[in-house]
Amino acid sequence: MPVEKESKLSVWIAALREWVPTVRVRTVDWWMVVRENPVLIWQTPAVRYTVIGIGGLIAVLVLRWFLLAMAPDSAGGGKPARTAQFHVICDDPDCGHHFAITREFKFKKFPVQCPKCNKKTGYRAVLSTSGPDKGQWVIRR
Ligand SMILES: [Zn+2]
Repeated sequence: MPVEKESKLSVWIAALREWVPTVRVRTVDWWMVVRENPVLIWQTPAVRYTVIGIGGLIAVLVLRWFLLAMAPDSAGGGKPARTAQFHVICDDPDCGHHFAITREFKFKKFPVQCPKCNKKTGYRAVLSTSGPDKGQWVIRR
């Protein structure tokens, strides 16, 4: 069996030795034809597949870079937010100041102190989505 394998290998080597000297001649022939008709460059399979392969490689690298850039930072991520901003409107008729406070999610200790009039008359406000106040901030009772 090893003898047969060696003979197969020697056949391949012989074929390669026959083929190698023709590469230069065929490349020169190809170049002469292509110089006359440049469209033939793209019709040469070796050129076409090389361009497609390099293009695919670049596409994969760009996609990989894009995905890595979009992925969240593993060092800072993972901790969910515990606070939220609340809109507050002062209920004092002479003030009516609209401001925001940052408290824990379930904060309910309204009224809070108004920074403008210093009275404890700040109530949570919501953006009205219907009725005559639609689109305005109103106190949620
Ligand atoms: Zn106020």
